[in-house]
Amino acid sequence: MKAVLVVLDGLGDRRCKSLGYMTPLQYARNRVLDRLAAEGETGLVDVVARGIPNGSDTGHLALLGYDPFTCYTGRGPFEALGAGLSLSHEDVAFRCNFATVADDGTVLDRRAGRISTEESRELAESIQSMEIDGIQFIFRHTVEHRGVLIMRGEGISHRVSNVDPHGKTSAIQKPRPLDDSPESLKTAQALQKFLEKTSQILQAHPINIKRREKNLPLANYILTRGAGRLPNLAPFEQKFGLRAAVVAGGALYKGVCRAAGFDVVNVEGATGTVNTNLGNKVKAVVESLKTHDFVLLHVKATDTLSHDKKPREKAEMINRVGDALEKMLEQLTTDTYVAVTGDHTTSSEVGDHRGDPVPVLIWGPDVRGDRVTKFDEISCMEGGLGRIRGVELMPILANYLGTLELYGE
Ligand SMILES: [Zn+2]
Repeated sequence: MKAVLVVLDGLGDRRCKSLGYMTPLQYARNRVLDRLAAEGETGLVDVVARGIPNGSDTGHLALLGYDPFTCYTGRGPFEALGAGLSLSHEDVAFRCNFATVADDGTVLDRRAGRISTEESRELAESIQSMEIDGIQFIFRHTVEHRGVLIMRGEGISHRVSNVDPHGKTSAIQKPRPLDDSPESLKTAQALQKFLEKTSQILQAHPINIKRREKNLPLANYILTRGAGRLPNLAPFEQKFGLRAAVVAGGALYKGVCRAAGFDVVNVEGATGTVNTNLGNKVKAVVESLKTHDFVLLHVKATDTLSHDKKPREKAEMINRVGDALEKMLEQLTTDTYVAVTGDHTTSSEVGDHRGDPVPVLIWGPDVRGDRVTKFDEISCMEGGLGRIRGVELMPILANYLGTLELYGE
């Protein structure tokens, strides 16, 4: 028995005025997803908890059976793992942006004019490793203006605030300790020194000198956020008896899965954007199922389009995924289950994550089925799975696959 879990990021939505008061899923009315819902069992998922708007990091932890309330400290370590860095459980990791900051500390552009991957990589090389107050700082560029920072050393803590104001104010925030421990204070102070030192190096870097000549925004500051420690997760294979792989474009998803012991399948053209190569991703899923029991297929663009307030384009993306899934279904062996859901709701009218539950379907050889014939937020309310929590999805799937041990005797 095998299973594919398809996660469309930010799949859930609300009724949109521009779609005649339908949700993008209702508007898309994808025949493949509707068929799977009609033949399978459906329901709604409160991914993290009822009414709690969650991020993709906590959402994916929950969908994979790990309670984020007990294991999650921040997004940084998952981004770092997803970028291919190795991390110990004592390290503190951050996600970072190259940004343009004025002399008075005003953030002029949190993405440094969306500086290119090539330029960012060169800048990153100049600050990739240093030691401050006995703490090692390891900085790596990932894509475009983004990077990750790891702090390694004795007596540090992940309890430090974000430097990135993230649109809330216009000034850079100094890292502050988030509790009274000496570890948090030491971390915040050392991090501030690192930021000042790297800012000086970046300011004088030939890349920035060239950018200044061309009147382009300088990449002269690193904005950190999402400080966290890598949780000690029980391996997925041990928890559910399933050898697992992930097919995704974005680093975060690979990182969460790596933390759970998944194999990461790198797919050409899997970009984590609207232009992602769905055909290649689906091929990779089919291929991975030959050597694994469980494959997570992640598609990011549905979330991005909701943030951009483009519900019609989100519906189109849903249809593209449905069509790609049809090709996948043709190639699956008859003992394969397919589950489709989202990691949270992203309202295309609000342009942000919301705590509404997301629809889910499970399809497979001996799934009980229910009376629901359509896959959308409203139809799935009446499904046989009822309303479940994200952490309940994996046990339900593993039960179908027959890999769970008997509770009691
Ligand atoms: Zn999002």
